[in-house]
Amino acid sequence: MKTDNVEYTGFSGWVDPPADALPALTEEITCQVAVVGGGLGGMSTALRLAERGQDVVLLEAEFCGHGSSSRNAGQLAGAPGGDLQLLDLLFRKKMPGMVRLAEHAAHFVEDLIRKYDIDCDYEPTGNVFAAVSRGQMGRVRRVAKILRRAGGHVELGTSEELGIPRGFLGGMREVIGGMMNPGKFTLGVRRALLSSSAQVFERTKVTDVTRDGGQVVLTTPRGKVRANRVVLATNAFAGEWDITPRRLSVPIWVIEVETEPIDPARLAAMGWTSRSGLVTQHAIMENYRLTSRGTIVFGVRRLERGTTYPLPRKKPDPALVEELAGAFATRFPALADVAVERAWGGWIAITSSWLPLAGQIDDNVFYSVACNGHGLAQAPYVGSLIADLIVDGERHEDLEALWAKKPKFPRPMMMGPLGLRTIWAVDRFNDLVNGSRRNARRGAVPVA
Ligand SMILES: Cc1cc2nc3c(=O)[nH]c(=O)nc-3n(C[C@H](O)[C@H](O)[C@H](O)COP(=O)(O)OP(=O)(O)OC[C@H]3O[C@@H](n4cnc5c(N)ncnc54)[C@H](O)[C@@H]3O)c2cc1C
Repeated sequence: MKTDNVEYTGFSGWVDPPADALPALTEEITCQVAVVGGGLGGMSTALRLAERGQDVVLLEAEFCGHGSSSRNAGQLAGAPGGDLQLLDLLFRKKMPGMVRLAEHAAHFVEDLIRKYDIDCDYEPTGNVFAAVSRGQMGRVRRVAKILRRAGGHVELGTSEELGIPRGFLGGMREVIGGMMNPGKFTLGVRRALLSSSAQVFERTKVTDVTRDGGQVVLTTPRGKVRANRVVLATNAFAGEWDITPRRLSVPIWVIEVETEPIDPARLAAMGWTSRSGLVTQHAIMENYRLTSRGTIVFGVRRLERGTTYPLPRKKPDPALVEELAGAFATRFPALADVAVERAWGGWIAITSSWLPLAGQIDDNVFYSVACNGHGLAQAPYVGSLIADLIVDGERHEDLEALWAKKPKFPRPMMMGPLGLRTIWAVDRFNDLVNGSRRNARRGAVPVA
């Protein structure tokens, strides 16, 4: 695969930043509810609060959609993220709630697209847990059993039965969900928010969150907001303030890359008839998806831990782009000559349990964070449920499923740079073994 002319972007490959970024807050204001962070989580919280008649202010450091909401792979998942076998082992009682939450979240986003008539190239294709080896196929079968037992809607099949490329052995389709251009979706939600009664200030970074009497005070470089309630929706950036619960999540940098447009006849020859997005069953997944512009977007494979705040502005590491291109050529040998056109990345938040979380600090600060790389559906859904909790005073059963009773969290395991490198190395070892087996079956000499 050619990687000599890649555009490394500091934002997203899906859309350009909006041309109408709003001015910063320059005064002291008061409101009923203030939301910090204008990703899908924060925007959907503010939108819902505005629709329910609340006096709401949203503060965003850059522009709404600047974070991972516009940068992700656009695979709207209908199942929980993380290692589902491990989660089932540790949290079996929670699994039905997590599965229900994931499915409801995907439907919520589909409703949002319809309600605000958002043109985001959405295709309800589902997504497939795709196996690249017999070992991964065994894992997929076990995961399918876990999800079915928890009430999930999934189907198992060979690559032909699932309509996915023949480089994969088969897999399990999450029937609910699909794929979209997440940049267009996020800017569509931004437009809906700006048309609502919510007051939105962009270019307004909250530098401190304190309490004064019964109110919460948000300090920004040129102004202040005094609010009765505050919702923290800054995802990976949550660790910047003292008020954030310790060890709530760790920030992790992941990337996506996009090919040049591919000849439709070559795409058709791959047998990817379902167009479902794919995620491999490595410990750190690879994802692959078709786009409506005739390209393939793919990524992740390596997790990079953020260790200092503020989190740095980053562009993808060319060595990782090279590595992802190598993986692409293995999974899609017929397209090995296609070029990578652009690459981008973003910060996600991972919790120590790998379960999504929401909770409350005292009675007036709410947080929802860490959909563990599955927030395209879950962040906006959980955000709207927090808005309903603020208005109604009651938690929906899906919010209850992820509610942290106390803001106390264990130290995350294997999330340091060495732990992440070890997980990556185990994946590569398994790839090597499986590649050797594949070659042996074809009669070729295994590569040592
Ligand atoms: C490369 C990549 C691929 C992914 N692929 C998928 C996928 O296919 N499917 C899926 O479901 N999920 C995926 N995800 C995860 C998904 O994008 C996130 O879980 C989701 O977008 C989180 O939304 P959010 O609103 O919580 O956070 P964000 O979109 O990150 O929003 C947080 C916002 O807070 C703002 N902010 C931060 N600090 C402050 C401050 N101090 N004051 C004011 N504002 C502040 C930021 O500027 C940002 O706009 C992916 C993520 C990445 C990066």
